[in-house]
Amino acid sequence: MNDLQIKIKDRIQAAHRILITSHIRPDGDAIGSSLALGLALMDAGKQVQVVLSDGLPASFRHLPGSEKVKTKAEGEFDLIVSVDCSDLKRVGKALDGYHPPDIVIDHHSTTEAFGELNLIDPQAAATASVLARFMQNWGLTITAPIAANLLTGLVTDTLGFRTSNTTPEVLRQAADLIELGADMTRLYYLSLVRRTFQASKYWGAGLSNLARADGIVWTTLTLADRKISGYTGNDDADLISVISSIDEADIAIIFTEQNKNKTKVSWRGLKPNIDVAQIACQFGGGGHKAAAGAELSGSLEEVRARVLKITQGSLKST
Ligand code: 5GP
Ligand code: MN
Repeated sequence: MNDLQIKIKDRIQAAHRILITSHIRPDGDAIGSSLALGLALMDAGKQVQVVLSDGLPASFRHLPGSEKVKTKAEGEFDLIVSVDCSDLKRVGKALDGYHPPDIVIDHHSTTEAFGELNLIDPQAAATASVLARFMQNWGLTITAPIAANLLTGLVTDTLGFRTSNTTPEVLRQAADLIELGADMTRLYYLSLVRRTFQASKYWGAGLSNLARADGIVWTTLTLADRKISGYTGNDDADLISVISSIDEADIAIIFTEQNKNKTKVSWRGLKPNIDVAQIACQFGGGGHKAAAGAELSGSLEEVRARVLKITQGSLKST
């Protein structure tokens, strides 16, 4: 074990009350990684709170331990761990009144080292992959419920094992997690395939507004689209993955209205030489080379015009 691993192990072993958090609008890796680490620490006799600022989306309530997720921390902690989160702003309100994380575990290429100990592997396909690699080193045991959470992180962040960072190691980890008791067919279906009628209607609204110019395809999801469809999430319901399959485009973008003055932007780079994280960084966001996001102040129209202009400029210079 290297020095960082030993320090992480020591901090975990010495801690009694542990707070685990992750990013706003949590996805499968944020939730799977938080719950996997949380359950393992509970099994090791620690008092643990898993706090996600936006709570747990209904689509992940099947995960073991999901009933433990809270939106606000209570009491004192001697260890705070952030997983799958690239900067302090992205934890939302989860750490309000608490110190910044003692340990940061992540895999985003744009991650700031905002913890005291930072275990960041931008090559890793998922934070769950980093955890699967190291948890046993820290004296933690991967039981079947923990395996289910880790496998969910792997499956969701690799879009079902089809992103370019799906290495042999990831596939071996998945095989090991299945052997430890995770039901991949079920978890894959529940986290990546099934969707509600409302989410499908919401997709329909987005798809009907699809536009393209200069190698970019984009669409917009308004608050009205959300209301009319009945979709209760505050994200794009993963419509971005659908428009990312459009063959003619180099970059796909979705603009999701959060309120009259705030717009969430998601970019996907569809060709190997494109780095959308660099574009997202120009707007205060971040992510990975092929998938990045940012939250911008401004109306939908204003943000869209600004982002399309910069994205077109960056595409021309690649
Ligand atoms: P999505 O577009 O699906 O929300 O996110 C794509 C990738 O970009 C994910 O890895 C996500 O964590 C990251 N990301 C999304 N929004 C933000 C943001 O506002 N700030 C940062 N730093 N990363 C983001
Ligand atoms: Mn992740």
